[in-house]
Amino acid sequence: MEIVPGLYRIADFLSTVYLIVTHEGLTLIDAGIAGGHKRILRAIVRLGHDPRQLHHILITHADGDHVGGLLPLVAVSGARVYASAIEAQALARGQFSRPLRLRGLPRFLFWLARPLYRVTPFDAAEVVKEGDILPGLGGLRVIETPGHTPGHISFFAPASGILFAGDSIAYHNGKMRRPFALVTWDEQLALASLRKQAALQPQIVCLGHGPVVHDASQKFLLPDS
Ligand SMILES: [Zn+2]
Repeated sequence: MEIVPGLYRIADFLSTVYLIVTHEGLTLIDAGIAGGHKRILRAIVRLGHDPRQLHHILITHADGDHVGGLLPLVAVSGARVYASAIEAQALARGQFSRPLRLRGLPRFLFWLARPLYRVTPFDAAEVVKEGDILPGLGGLRVIETPGHTPGHISFFAPASGILFAGDSIAYHNGKMRRPFALVTWDEQLALASLRKQAALQPQIVCLGHGPVVHDASQKFLLPDS
């Protein structure tokens, strides 16, 4: 579960979070599903750290599988939470940042799984925007990557070439592509965000779902036009 020294992947059956360890404390990328905080806290302890060393939680977007564990994590750690303006507002309301346009079977499956996507309102996220630098891996730059949701952001560490892409990138058949249409709020924005991320030429991409992608700059699937 160690990706590079000091960077760890913590996954359950639905979502993935990433833990960054520095001598100043711990930074977490996303907060997992409701109830998922227990696994995250266990991992922190197993790595030899005190959960109270968790100082920063960076949120890519306010979907329930990324913020479900937020409240208990903050209660234990007192961590500061960061999100874009749009996602922070949704989080404060305890709602997703856009209506889901699912129909038919996917809609029914989502309805069945809705307890896993539960969002508990949290109104204390600090708002960040493009270019802001957050703690971890020598500085994590905020990259606005809307498409999957209107306020989705990613975090890029130029020093190590590591990109945390949340759900702005889907991984399929060895390639990174824009998220599937079914779960995409705006497909044109999603494609523009993918181009923007490819231009960063990341070495490693850490996704909200799926594996960690190495040699990542070679694996973007972009339409020609
Ligand atoms: Zn997700």
